[in-house]
Amino acid sequence: MSGCDCKKYEWVKVDKSKCDGCGNCVEFCPRDVLRLDNQGFPYMAYRDDCWYCDVCKFMCQLDAIELETVPYLIR
Ligand code: SF4
Ligand code: SF4
Repeated sequence: MSGCDCKKYEWVKVDKSKCDGCGNCVEFCPRDVLRLDNQGFPYMAYRDDCWYCDVCKFMCQLDAIELETVPYLIR
């Protein structure tokens, strides 16, 4: 679980009604951004390393991930 209340600033949004906690998004993120929280749902543990590449979204077979607009220029 993240130590701060930062989730409202995350742009990788997980629909908890769809997610089964399989961990594919965590495993295949090329930047090692994601972790499972203590409830088994992914969150952006290392948000600033995200490339906004969509791999997490494509690797989710349950279509539980949406990427919102990045709130600032990251490149
Ligand atoms: S968008 Fe890419 S870099 Fe960012 S969390 Fe998803 S897989 Fe990782
Ligand atoms: S790949 Fe999808 S179902 Fe699996 S943990 Fe990530 S968001 Fe949840």
